[in-house]
Amino acid sequence: MIVVYDIWKFWFDRIFGIDRLSLSDKGKGNMSERARPKSQRIYDSLCEVIPGGVNSPVRACRDVHQLPLVADYAMQDVIVDCDGCAYIDFCGSWGALIHGHANPHILQAVHKRMLKGTSYGVTTPIEDELAREIIRHVPSIEKIRFVSSGTEATMSAVRLARGATQRDYIVKFVGNYHGHADGFLVQAGSGVAQFIATASSQGIPPESVKFTLNLPYNDVEGVRALLSNSQYSKNIAAVILEPIAGNMGVVPASKDFIQMLRDETKKIGALLIFDEVITGFRVGLGGAQEYYGVKPDLTCLGKIIGGGFPAAAFGGRRDIMDQLAPLGPVYQAGTLSGNPVAMEAGLQSVRMASKPGFYKALQQKADMIVQPVNEMIKQKNIDACFQQVGSMFTLFLGKRHVANMADAKGTDQELFTRFFKHMFDHGIYIPPSQYEAWFVSSAHTTPHLEKTRDAILAFLSTISNDS
Ligand SMILES: *Cc1c(COP(=O)(O)O)cnc(C)c1O
Repeated sequence: MIVVYDIWKFWFDRIFGIDRLSLSDKGKGNMSERARPKSQRIYDSLCEVIPGGVNSPVRACRDVHQLPLVADYAMQDVIVDCDGCAYIDFCGSWGALIHGHANPHILQAVHKRMLKGTSYGVTTPIEDELAREIIRHVPSIEKIRFVSSGTEATMSAVRLARGATQRDYIVKFVGNYHGHADGFLVQAGSGVAQFIATASSQGIPPESVKFTLNLPYNDVEGVRALLSNSQYSKNIAAVILEPIAGNMGVVPASKDFIQMLRDETKKIGALLIFDEVITGFRVGLGGAQEYYGVKPDLTCLGKIIGGGFPAAAFGGRRDIMDQLAPLGPVYQAGTLSGNPVAMEAGLQSVRMASKPGFYKALQQKADMIVQPVNEMIKQKNIDACFQQVGSMFTLFLGKRHVANMADAKGTDQELFTRFFKHMFDHGIYIPPSQYEAWFVSSAHTTPHLEKTRDAILAFLSTISNDS
């Protein structure tokens, strides 16, 4: 009882706290130029002890040249910085928070769970519950293993694919992000060797990326040609992709592209791995594979299945998954894998998402922003496009359609920086890079969505060709 009372008291304090902040007033004046002295002090202190003051680089806001948001607390669709400035949040912890911040249901379940201990290093019933919940919704997953981050999930899935096929090459696509393991951090080579990747980070031996082929996204014929090239085809263990890319901004694969990958991998005996760390439980209960109606051999999940805690997973065909230790010869392990607190948060998150009508309501919230903005783009003939799948979307500035990384690179970076600042000034926090997806959560309120829509329309009217 005391636990429940504490959570609700916390919750109500926050609600009343937010009311006093009054989002609309914060929107007046120039917030980015308005000093954020406390945030600045904390960030300066962080920079002395943590490289760049951040534990993940994009948080440093380098693309938009400003002091990063230093969060104090958040609730529902609002994040509040250390100076008490409130922002409507469209980053949502990079898509993890599909039910918004501090969802009372998740908080309560997690709090109760924590009283039973936070980690045991032995197996637990809650892992069984979340595994079954996921398997029920994602039919291609027959068995699953939990890990703590998306990076671990993709890294482990690739090792498993290599072990199961006894082959070494993997194919990935330019602009798709699969975490920071050595073999994924590649950039396109040049000349004849353009598909042979070179490392995109220092600290990676050339040997670690020599089995990674890096191909253009959505290029049906080019990729088909490479996959059927006998020099490689017998050595390719897996093709891994974001079926709806979220890490170059939202760029869906074409149906033909996905179908070609399914057909060609099958033909050459390679596995198809969907990295659904973003799209899993985001674009629908069955993820992008349900959206396209295509069954991959392995799937990587993360973000939403942790409900705001560190949890991720990879899963798929039973015969492949059983190659993992202790049953099989492919080693993989983790001290905090299947952590009961993270499992509880993930279970509540997935269960709430599986209520009837959940994704339809979410899409309607997203449509409130995307549709009117797209109308204006069309009417006023603006060089921009708002690409959307369900509740994930990106406004690309300076490009009318983005199908791959080359298109995404053709956007107007300087314009995006101005746009980010404009939104920030209006108390709206979007991901601080053109190459990221924005996320709507079930906690976004109509007034906040309308405010956001209006802020975007106001910005676009200043850059439209007929103004
Ligand atoms: C976020 C992300 C990852 C990496 O997950 P982490 O938990 O950050 O390691 C991998 N793949 C995709 C598609 C992602 O969006």
